[in-house]
Amino acid sequence: PLPTIYAITPTYSRPVQKAELTRLANTFRQVAQLHWILVEDAAARSELVSRFLARAGLPCTHLHVPTPRRYKRPGLPRATEQRNAGLAWLRQRHRHQRAQPGVLFFADDDNTYSLELFQEMRTTRKVSVWPVGLVGGRRYERPLVENGKVVGWYTGWRADRPFAIDMAGFAVSLQVILSNPKAVFKRHGSQPGMQDNCTKVLVWHTRTEKVNLANEPKYHLDTVKIEV
Ligand code: UDP
Ligand code: MN
Repeated sequence: PLPTIYAITPTYSRPVQKAELTRLANTFRQVAQLHWILVEDAAARSELVSRFLARAGLPCTHLHVPTPRRYKRPGLPRATEQRNAGLAWLRQRHRHQRAQPGVLFFADDDNTYSLELFQEMRTTRKVSVWPVGLVGGRRYERPLVENGKVVGWYTGWRADRPFAIDMAGFAVSLQVILSNPKAVFKRHGSQPGMQDNCTKVLVWHTRTEKVNLANEPKYHLDTVKIEV
């Protein structure tokens, strides 16, 4: 059987949320054997996301965990609690059986994914890394590969990071996730393989412009309630 691709997506409420999720679902729907783990940054599952997933036509798991208020500040890592909740779900689900063939990656809701990326990551044995477009103040970042080994990182931002790679730039096999139960994203003290020699950009760290709602009415509201 095809290894399952698990995609963990943190997401939060904002005017463009449904548009982002729609674009992502349209991509994922074209990928065989993909399980979407959508984790809302919220105290409860929202109606918008629940309704959306019910109609998305995708195998999915809908989780939620709020980011503590003290961590909602510029300069602090985003979506840590949500990604960890996704990891915890994955480990819980597989606690009894031996690891089925599978691979996990972190799919932010605003990035742009080539379908080729999924073919490439599906056969990950341990960890795969690849280039990411439009990130780190450059056109792309990429792993530097020599004789099939990663020897460094082509990046313009904090090149001293031990793994100078964007969240969109790697996948990990389910086997590795399950045999390293303590591997999680940590808040404290943290700041903000098949690789074709990593010469192709198949994922882009796109960011959606903040939408202009300056003309939203304060009174004389529309007479129908419309979900956007
Ligand atoms: N995110 C979240 N809560 C937040 C901010 C972001 O869950 O308070 C999610 C967001 O939906 C996205 C991921 O975390 O899936 C990364 O956030 P963003 O795209 O804003 O960060 P950037 O691309 O700038 O690193
Ligand atoms: Mn983003």
